[in-house]
Amino acid sequence: MKISFHGAAGGVTGSCHLISVAGRNILVDCGMFQGGHELHQDNRAPFGFDPDSVDVLLLTHAHLDHCGRIPLLLKRGFSGEIICTPATRDLARLILLDSAHLHEEEARRRRHHGATGQESEPLYDTVDVLDSLDRFGRLAEYGVPIDLGRGAVATFFEAGHILGSASVLLDLTERGRRRRVLLSGDIGPRERPLLNPAMPPSDVDVVVMESTYGDRDHRPLDATIAEFEAAIRQADDRGGNVIIPTFALERAQELLFCLREGMLGGRIRALMSVYLDSPMAISATQLFRRHPDAMKPAIAAMIRRGDDPFRLPELHFTRDASESMALNRVRSGAIIMAGSGMCTGGRVRHHLRHNLAHADCSVIFVGFAAKGTLARIIIDGARTVRLFGDGIPVRAGIHTINGFSAHAGRTDLLDWHARTGAPERTFLVHGEDAARASLAGALGKDRVTLPALHASFDL
Ligand code: ZN
Repeated sequence: MKISFHGAAGGVTGSCHLISVAGRNILVDCGMFQGGHELHQDNRAPFGFDPDSVDVLLLTHAHLDHCGRIPLLLKRGFSGEIICTPATRDLARLILLDSAHLHEEEARRRRHHGATGQESEPLYDTVDVLDSLDRFGRLAEYGVPIDLGRGAVATFFEAGHILGSASVLLDLTERGRRRRVLLSGDIGPRERPLLNPAMPPSDVDVVVMESTYGDRDHRPLDATIAEFEAAIRQADDRGGNVIIPTFALERAQELLFCLREGMLGGRIRALMSVYLDSPMAISATQLFRRHPDAMKPAIAAMIRRGDDPFRLPELHFTRDASESMALNRVRSGAIIMAGSGMCTGGRVRHHLRHNLAHADCSVIFVGFAAKGTLARIIIDGARTVRLFGDGIPVRAGIHTINGFSAHAGRTDLLDWHARTGAPERTFLVHGEDAARASLAGALGKDRVTLPALHASFDL
């Protein structure tokens, strides 16, 4: 029995862990490396194992850094079954098709600039994604064991991170020896607007756990929502438009729900016009409605009685580019939610270009902004930013709400770990070095391992 780590070992992207038991190879996640040119190149590197030898792939959730290399795995020989929850399957379909489209566009751009050979080819294309979707087989229900054959049984548990997200428990048997290995996937904070909290199993021997925020806590959800509502009220008082750069999946739906609650409670003016200006976010919102059982019972009940948790009196979905461009002519009273969350690309850059210079407008940042991104530059107080070749003065009101997160903070991570029992060994993955080391210190260093990329261990 062995485990080896082929991504998110020393960073937060590219999750990919291989478990070998009784001659069977089980892969958990096959994510994309993201964030900088060098990391992008890592996606083309060999996996560190033979894709042809993998029998089954268990997918914890649909984020690109967990599912983004699946089409590449197929291109390189994987022909086994992919197992995940129903919501993860639907969302992964959306995310992977979008990813293929971006890779195709990028390859076209590189060819246009004279690239040849491997550099001129997309990492994978739409047909590779369609081939991958054919591999999705059995669907996992939380708490129901799935036989993987030859002494391996997988059970998915709620992870509370995004719709359909799961931790995966592997019950392994080899030559009469039994081990229970739990892979956390990404773990959500205990309090979320839409999702149930993580529910890990107990009596686990070995834990593989994410550690993204292993060194810090977030603001409580109530305080964060109050801060968000106050920012919307202030922006409304200013009179101009409100731009909210947002991630398409989960955050956009959470914000729609929070706006709805704020309007119903009379804390936000009910007739503000809200535009969800992102085809991906619009599709994701539709998928949320399709999976009521993947959300809190109260939200599921709302959907069942025909009460839409994402409906606002003046909500507009702008899927077409022409509709998005028409928003450039709106001068006041519009809340525009668009991606990308860090303003590195996407429609939000057009909205910033048309609104940042106006003192009556506002920008509300609701997500993590990495160093060097436009979001971070604005948050850090730049007086002027460059957009589409023009210098745009920043006169709009800038708000930063830090408490929304799809990842558990340190206290919730420690609580999650405590609920798994007293595992003999814990591997920390999916965290920068400082966060991993800090969490390792709290868990007791002698039982914790911080694996390096491609490192392999006996279980
Ligand atoms: Zn995730």
